[in-house]
Parts: sequence; structure tokens; C-alpha cells
Amino acid sequence: MLCFLSAEVPKWFTRRVQKLISIEEARSRVLAEAAPLPAESCALPWALGRVLAQEISAPHDVPPFDNSGMDGFAVRAVDTVDAGPESPARLKISMVIPAGTVGTRVIEAEQAAKIMTGAPIPQGADSVVQVEATEEKDGYVLIFEPAKRGKNIRKAGEDVPAGERVFKPGGVLGPAELGLIASFGIPEVLVHRHPRVAILSTGSELVEVGEPLLPGQIHNSNSYSLRAQCQQLGIEPTVLGIVIDDYEETKRLIQQGLEYDVLVTSGGVSVGDFDFIKEVQNELGVERKLWGVAMKPGKPLAFGVHGSTLVFGLPGNPVSTMVSFELFVRPTLLRLMGYRKTTRPPYPAIIAEDVNNPDGRTYVIRVRAWREGCMWHVSSTGAQGSGILKSMVGANGLAFIPGGPRGVKAGEEVEFLLLNEDLQEP
Ligand code: AMP
Ligand code: MG
Repeated sequence: MLCFLSAEVPKWFTRRVQKLISIEEARSRVLAEAAPLPAESCALPWALGRVLAQEISAPHDVPPFDNSGMDGFAVRAVDTVDAGPESPARLKISMVIPAGTVGTRVIEAEQAAKIMTGAPIPQGADSVVQVEATEEKDGYVLIFEPAKRGKNIRKAGEDVPAGERVFKPGGVLGPAELGLIASFGIPEVLVHRHPRVAILSTGSELVEVGEPLLPGQIHNSNSYSLRAQCQQLGIEPTVLGIVIDDYEETKRLIQQGLEYDVLVTSGGVSVGDFDFIKEVQNELGVERKLWGVAMKPGKPLAFGVHGSTLVFGLPGNPVSTMVSFELFVRPTLLRLMGYRKTTRPPYPAIIAEDVNNPDGRTYVIRVRAWREGCMWHVSSTGAQGSGILKSMVGANGLAFIPGGPRGVKAGEEVEFLLLNEDLQEP
């Protein structure tokens, strides 16, 4: 459970955030509208991170035949019972079996086959002596230790026997899963379709990266962070670009965006004179499911549904945009992709500094998180304004400071989400 408004919060705090809903409530309203998309066929090389929409059973034994687990000699154990360092067994090498071939002769008494790892065990042999315990001489092999029946033989089906139902619908395909399906000889699988996502940045002050800035202008950064957040899920979104703060233009582009499974806009969703997103959503028949979340950054979030399109109006401040994506859009995309688990688990952590939160809203701060022993620690990445995108750079976590007059004190416990496991420095 994440920490939100608690019972101890004084009335004046709760009044200020009365119309807002908690992060958890907002997320459950959003997820209530999202169901896994239909299945499509996907070739294995492109299936990483996809979610299975079918069962998969092994069509044959894996491995398909008894084979050698070592480079060495396939022998009859009975011929080596008395073998030792001083009294090696001397067996005639009747054939060589490289991997990928089948030895055609039967191993008779006092015979051995030179065999490579992965090659089929020849008939008659019941064990493999690894090459390090042997010496080859004049068409014979000296064996310096007794072979044990079955030793160094990988039995047919010991990985997966034919018919075993290894994969169930809902399973996420990682490298090992893809490898095993490949070993079944199955070239493509049924997975839930990826959502088609459109990203639209609103704001007359925005210019594209690469263009010079005129007075009053800034570069459009949200398209880039949002696109990258989608790409981290394996989704390549369509970036519709920038729309100026003009009602008709906004309407035209939102209409385009409604052709997708998910439309994510940034900016223009607040209460400014030129914030047209909510009005345009209304006119186009987007059914509003929520507006306003008791969090900072990210309060002005407008989410609704239009036919089968999920429509997110994220706030424009670059940190608000990214945090809102993380908390609401990401779980939605994962659900559409078929994931059962859509949110990161909140961990407890010791916070390194006092954080005031003189506001009823949950304060979502950007932190560096690291482990000491079995405990997580978090520390603010610096100035935390919703326009300070640098606070996200180098942050590997988001920590939740409950609303209330006290905030939290250094050394107290907070909950946080680990965003990036690879980035952990004290
Ligand atoms: P808005 O939500 O439209 O009121 O925008 C809030 C703040 O975020 C303003 O300072 C905008 O200039 C800024 N902003 C909005 N969209 C973007 C964007 N795509 N890239 C960078 N900053 C933006
Ligand atoms: Mg704007």
C-alpha cells in the first residue's frame, strides 16, 4: 500500500484537496478501463517482453535423443570396472562421432567410440568417460578410471519431456523462455498485441529540437521523455508532434490521436486561459473518468475513454509528465500488453533528509536509492520543482511523502518505487 492522505491529516489540508483523488484510486480507475489486447502472431526474434496468449507444450523431447554431456569416449561401463591410474582399460576405438552425426556401429565388448559433446550416444554404450581421464594410442584408448553407467549421458527429454505444458497464457517471454520455445522448434507464438500509442505535445511556446529558440520559446522535451518511457516497455509510439494552443488545431490533432489505442497528450490540461485539452476531449465525446490527483507533481491529470481509445491528458511540466506516465500510463500499457503485474512493488526505505510537505497532496520526490545490508535508503536528487527535469536525471526511484503538516524527518521510513535496478550508488 502506498501512503496517501491519512486520518491524522487536519481538515484544512483535506479541504484543499477535496476534489482530488488519491494516486491509488486514480490508478484503479484507469486500470478498470484497460484489458489485454487481442492476440497476434509474433516471430520469436521480436517476442522479447511480450505476453503469451496461448499454451505451449513441448512437441518432442528436449533434448530429442540421449547425447554426450562431454567430449570423451562412449563405452560399456562393464569393460572399465577394473580401470585405474596404473591399470587402464584398453579399448579399441571403433568410430568417431562428431556432434550432428549419428554413429552407425554398435559398441561391442572392449570397444569405445570417440564422441563429442552433444553427439548421440551410440547403441551398446551406456556411459561416457571424459577425455581428460583417457589417453589415445594407436587406434586404442586407455581409460584410467571406471566408467559409471549413465555418467555424462544427457537423457532424451531430461530438459522437457514431449507433451509437457511448459508455458501458459499470461506468461512473459524473457530470454530463457524464448530459448526454450526455440528448442521446441516453434518459430512464432501468439502474444497480446502491443498498444498503438500516440504522443502529442501541446503548447505555443514549444519548438522542435534542432530549431533555434526565439524569445519566449522552449524546446519540446516531453515528446522525447514520453517516447523513451514507451520504448522502455518495447512500444514504439507515434509522435504526433507539437500542437499550438489553438482550440481548432488541438481538436484536429486530438481527433487524429483518437485513432490509436492510447493517446497521451502533455500540457494544456490545467486551468489556464489557453488550456484546451479538457474542453476538446469533451467536445469529441471522450468520457471523463477522472480529473485531478492528490499528488505533486502531476495534479492536473485528465483521463477518459473514447470508444476503445484510452485518453490521457498529462500535465505539461516535464517532471509531472514523466511521473504521471510512470504512475498511470505505464501500468495501463502493461495491462494492454497482457501483463498481470502492472505496478512496481513499493519498498520501504530510510530517507536521508527532512522533507516538508505543507500540502494535503502526496509529494512524489525523485530519489537516488541504494541498499545497505537488507535496507533501502533514499536521498532526494536535489531541487524538486515540477519543471526541474534534472531531478529525474540520475534518479532511480520515486519516493512518496504523505500529505500532512509534518512531512518526514531524516531517518524515517518512506515508501518508494525502484525505477532502475542498474543505477544504485550510495
Ligand atoms: P501546461 O501544462 O501546458 O500549462 O505546461 C506547464 C509547463 O510545462 C509550462 O511551463 C510549459 O512550457 C511546459 N511544457 C509543456 N509542454 C512541454 C513540452 N512538451 N516540453 C517541455 N516543456 C513543456
Ligand atoms: Mg501549455
